[in-house]
Amino acid sequence: MKISSLFNDKKTVFSLEVFPPKKTSEDISTIYKTLEGIKSVKPDFISVTYGAGGNKADLSTFEICKIIKEKYDTPAIAHLTCVNSQMKDIDYILNKLEEIGVENILALRGDKNEDAGVKGDFKYASDLIEYIKNSGYSFEISGACYPEVHTEAEGPVEDILALKKKVDAGAQHLISQLFFDNSAFYTFLERARIAGIEVPIEAGIMPVVNISQIERMVSMCGASLPRKFTKVMSRFADNPQALFDAGIAYAVDQIVDLISNGADGIHLYTMNNPLVANRIFSAIDSMR
Ligand code: FAD
Repeated sequence: MKISSLFNDKKTVFSLEVFPPKKTSEDISTIYKTLEGIKSVKPDFISVTYGAGGNKADLSTFEICKIIKEKYDTPAIAHLTCVNSQMKDIDYILNKLEEIGVENILALRGDKNEDAGVKGDFKYASDLIEYIKNSGYSFEISGACYPEVHTEAEGPVEDILALKKKVDAGAQHLISQLFFDNSAFYTFLERARIAGIEVPIEAGIMPVVNISQIERMVSMCGASLPRKFTKVMSRFADNPQALFDAGIAYAVDQIVDLISNGADGIHLYTMNNPLVANRIFSAIDSMR
């Protein structure tokens, strides 16, 4: 199923992100437990990261997409980065994806690895999107967007113009970086619509359920931390169970506000934790 068709009615779409386990430290079978644990949530689709967070990029992303599609009868989006790839590498992957029947790709530049040197044929995600579209593949393409501006962008205007290029190149759906301040998302949404970006934009929500997660996430993506959020986190910093419950409650509060404001979709960064996904979705199930 093509993802954009999910946005045809007025309901808010609910999706999840999972990542392949790091092969060096975890057995690949852990992802099967994650998928089994989140199946009762019945997400509209699941996206699977590619080489993110230090994971070595390999074909496990695509194998996991195949399982999501075939075993759980759920649409899957395969993330695909291009910054260190040549056209022949991308062609190999696209052919593999076609072979296993994955229809949706989240086309990304990926984070630059200065040590690896620049060996890629693609500078931006929009180059990858254009390449896929012009090569005759029938994949539907999604892209990433940044409510609080991408860390390397010159500014919000330049970032929105770059996003418009991504959509003009063929992205039919966008998923946002995580944020903790809904007003930042609404401001971004307004700018995007003014710039003529009309595709569905899903809001990325990450429930923060332990302290180390906050430090890691904020240093990686630069999300701002509103006072309400830092108050909650510091109040329960010494009580892991309370922090977990408070992190879930904060995310649910964000989601209820987003649904009330007519968000196209909510994309939940599950961190492969079925308990988090189940707690969030049972709190909002009646609103779906
Ligand atoms: P781009 O859209 O190419 O943007 C990168 C920078 O270049 C931005 O500053 C933008 O403003 C600028 N820019 C873009 N196009 C142009 C242009 N034409 N002219 C001038 N400037 C331009 N990383 C992984 O490694 N694996 C994953 O699976 C993964 N999944 C992600 C999922 C989501 C929803 C998000 C939000 C991010 C994900 N990332 C992932 C991280 C992502 O790869 C990084 O944020 C990366 O730094 C940027 O990727 P991009 O595709 O957004 O890049």
